[in-house]
Amino acid sequence: MAHTPSTTAPAHPLAGVSPDVLTVTNLIRTGRAVTRQAIAEATGMGRNTVSVLINDAVDAGLLTPNGSAPSTGGRAPATWRFRAEAGLALAIGVHTTTLRLAVADLSGATLVSEVVDWPIARGPEATLAEAAARLRVLLARAEKDWPAHGQVRVAGISLTGPVDRHSGRPIAPPIMPGWDGFDVVGTVQALLGVPVVVDNDVNVMLTGFLAAAAERQDMSEDLLYVQVGTGIGAGLLASGRIHHGADGAAGDIGHVRVTTSDQVICRCGRTGCLEAVAGGWAVLRDARRAANDGVSPFLRGRLEQAGELSIEDVITGVAAGDTECLTLTVRSATAVGDALAMLVSLLNPARVVLAGPMPQACPIFLEVAQRIVKERALGLATRNLRISVTSEGLEDERRGAAVLAVSALFDGARR
Ligand SMILES: [Zn+2]
Repeated sequence: MAHTPSTTAPAHPLAGVSPDVLTVTNLIRTGRAVTRQAIAEATGMGRNTVSVLINDAVDAGLLTPNGSAPSTGGRAPATWRFRAEAGLALAIGVHTTTLRLAVADLSGATLVSEVVDWPIARGPEATLAEAAARLRVLLARAEKDWPAHGQVRVAGISLTGPVDRHSGRPIAPPIMPGWDGFDVVGTVQALLGVPVVVDNDVNVMLTGFLAAAAERQDMSEDLLYVQVGTGIGAGLLASGRIHHGADGAAGDIGHVRVTTSDQVICRCGRTGCLEAVAGGWAVLRDARRAANDGVSPFLRGRLEQAGELSIEDVITGVAAGDTECLTLTVRSATAVGDALAMLVSLLNPARVVLAGPMPQACPIFLEVAQRIVKERALGLATRNLRISVTSEGLEDERRGAAVLAVSALFDGARR
C-alpha cells in the first residue's frame, strides 16, 4: 500500500534559537547541569559564554531563574529551570482497543486527557484522523485554560508495535492490521501541523519513567523497563541513552521462542513465543478455558456475570485466593523472569522496572520474577540490581510521548 508523505514538514518551533542556546537549555531541561559552572564543565565553553547563552535562552522564553544551588563554599551558585510553560505537547497512545490522548506542558505533565474506545484494527487513516480531531478539541481547551503557555507545539506518538527508527513507520506489527509501513509521522504532521515523533510503546513508557525519575533525582544510567501488558516488550537504557539498535527493534522480546511446544500458537502466527505464554492475551485465553472447564469456580462466576473476562478478573482472583488465577499469574511471572534473567546477563542494568496490570497489581508477580533473576543471572550482575514495579505504566506512557516530542526539539543540540 503506497502512502504519500506530507510534502512539507512543519517548521521547527525553535528554529530561531541557536544550537548553542539549545545545548545549554537542554542540559538544564534534563537536569544534567543547572549551574554556570556545571554547564561550562559539561560543554567545555567558558563561563562568560555560558552566561550569554543562558541570557539568550531566558530572552527566548526557554529558561527562567530558579534560585540557588547548595553552596560548596563561597557564594551559592545561581540555577535555572526549563520553562515547561513555554508551550504545549500533544501525546497520542495507540493501543489495541483504546486511543489515549493528552495535552501536556513541555515537562510532560498532563493538563487535559481523554481515553477513547477505539479498535486499532480500524486502520491508520481512520485512527490517526480520530486522534487528531480529538486532540484539536483538547488543545483548544488547554489553550483556553492555560492562556499563559507559550507557542511551542509538538506531538509524540506511542505505537503498540515495532517502529523503524529511521522512517518512523511501523514494520510488520503483529496486531496492527493495515499499519505495516504506514507514514504515521507524515500523516499526523499534515493533520496537526506540528512536528511529530513516534516510537514503540515501551520506549515511550521508558522515556516517561526516566523524566519522572529525574524529577525525583533517582536517575539510573543503565535500566531495563519491561512492559507486561497484552503483549510484552522491553525498553533498554544503556549508558544514559535509550538503545534502539540498528533499526529500532532492540528490546522487542515478545516473540522470542521460550517453548518448543507447537501447541502454543502466538498471534504473530508462529509458535512458542514469550507473549503466547506470558502476555495478557495468553493469560486471558487460559483464564477463559479454566472458566469454561470449571477448573476455576471464581472465573466461571465472573464469566457468567459479565459475559467476558478481563485481566482485572484474574488479578481479583489472585487477591481472592483462587488457585487457578494464582497459577496463571505465577506462570506468566516465571516466563518473564526467565527472559529477564537472560536480559540482565546480557545488559547488566542497575535497575529493572516492571510495568503492566499484573506486575502492578500482584506482588507475587514481582516476587517470582525477582527470585528467578537471582537464581539464573550471574552474581556480579545481580549483586546491586534493583527490581521494582512502576506505580503507573499508563502515566509513564502519556508523559513519555510528550517528553519524546519535546526532546526531539533539542536533537540538533550538542550534548
Ligand atoms: Zn509471536
